Amino acid sequence: MYLTTLVNLIIAIVVFVISITAMIISAYEKETKASIWSLIFALSLPIPFLLPAFIPAVAGSVYPVSIIIITSLVLLAFLYNPKQKKFAPVKPAMQHDERETMFSRRELEPGSKRYQDYYTTHPEHHDPDKKWRQKPGLLNSDSLFYHPVSFAAAEASFETIGKLGPFIDGPVKKIQQKLSAKDLTHFIKKWMLKQGIADIGVAEMQPYHYYHTKGRGSAYNQAITPQHKYGVALTVEMDESMINAAPKGSAVMESAEKYLKSGVPAVQLATFLREMGYDAKAHIDGNYELICPLVARDAALGEIGRMGLLMTPGQGPRVRIAVVTTNAPLVLSKPASIAYSMNEFCTYCKKCAAVCPGQAISFDERKMNDGILRWKINSESCFTYWQTAGTDCGRCMAVCPYAHANNLLHNAVRSGIRYSKLFRRVAVILDDLFYGKRPVSKSMPNWIPQAKS
Ligand code: SF4
Ligand code: SF4
Repeated sequence: MYLTTLVNLIIAIVVFVISITAMIISAYEKETKASIWSLIFALSLPIPFLLPAFIPAVAGSVYPVSIIIITSLVLLAFLYNPKQKKFAPVKPAMQHDERETMFSRRELEPGSKRYQDYYTTHPEHHDPDKKWRQKPGLLNSDSLFYHPVSFAAAEASFETIGKLGPFIDGPVKKIQQKLSAKDLTHFIKKWMLKQGIADIGVAEMQPYHYYHTKGRGSAYNQAITPQHKYGVALTVEMDESMINAAPKGSAVMESAEKYLKSGVPAVQLATFLREMGYDAKAHIDGNYELICPLVARDAALGEIGRMGLLMTPGQGPRVRIAVVTTNAPLVLSKPASIAYSMNEFCTYCKKCAAVCPGQAISFDERKMNDGILRWKINSESCFTYWQTAGTDCGRCMAVCPYAHANNLLHNAVRSGIRYSKLFRRVAVILDDLFYGKRPVSKSMPNWIPQAKS
């Protein structure tokens, strides 16, 4: 056998094994379309490489060498990455006002002084807010996706998070335990990861991380004074099978649960640091003084994507975040260790914008918004849909190619996207082929029962 024939045979086997592996994983994920395409690839792609082994005339011709050269050139094209930029977060100059967020506006009681004051200073929000106030509302029994069991489970998680409120801050032990920044950071990371956190990073707190004024609860209207040097950002992975059914009830149930699952260790970590003699505060659902995705981005955990959420290298946007701010000595995470790639991928992929039921996500290029180049979602449109659906939707998160399950196939694709400019373009095409340009919402996991009333 010619050496070139042997090389062709090896390439055929590699291509076949990769395609069959993709088929098996897709079948396991119940992605029928992806399995069929993987099978088609497994049966067709090896054919050109098998010809020299079965047709002697082909083996003796220039064909085997030519096909090896073409394959090598294609591989080199994927490896060639001329403008791979390092992750360089843009630092906005301004601070946001928590009172302007949708969650704060939702708490305004029509007729109250707070309500009147807000819409007097923000008349531009009056009409859009009137629109969503006419909808049934989050977790409401008249909403589009009302599902008693999942809604009750979501409510239970939100109620439990609410009970954590008094523990986000507290007295600091007078005696300070001395540990080097390196040892303390190492301990915190190991301890948090041991508890099931997906990732953790440390950022140096900047004014733009903080809201300038409180917008919720009894502290409404109070100025926020940044007190801490460091922000420890924690991400918790959301279950793909729950999110894939978005905007149905399992999505809000999962969302609430992971707010809780990120909130508990954040409270625990802040308490630990205070026990060690360092001022620390947890920022968890319902009790934020800062914008978690920005802190997490600067803690080297990811980038902010087209849908305005943190995109992590491992789970894409399928995470919930909590932050602990502190003055304890810590080592900053190195943003340069993450290659700039997700934002570029988002410029090719517009899947979240295509499926968004609220038409809240832009199809355009990034624009200057509040002094930084970014995609800005239309919060009013998004929230109006939440109020209609009764859930926090999550359709954008469910279809994001970066949010596929944490397994061999998808981790390999995510690595390819990170390191290869050409692969970013190909991955968008493959994702459309395997999962559809506008993937349909899946059924909720069948262990979540329907209730009869
Ligand atoms: S949560 Fe739903 S409505 Fe909001 S941006 Fe995402 S897809 Fe659109
Ligand atoms: S769906 Fe596509 S465009 Fe939207 S955030 Fe994910 S990767 Fe970016």
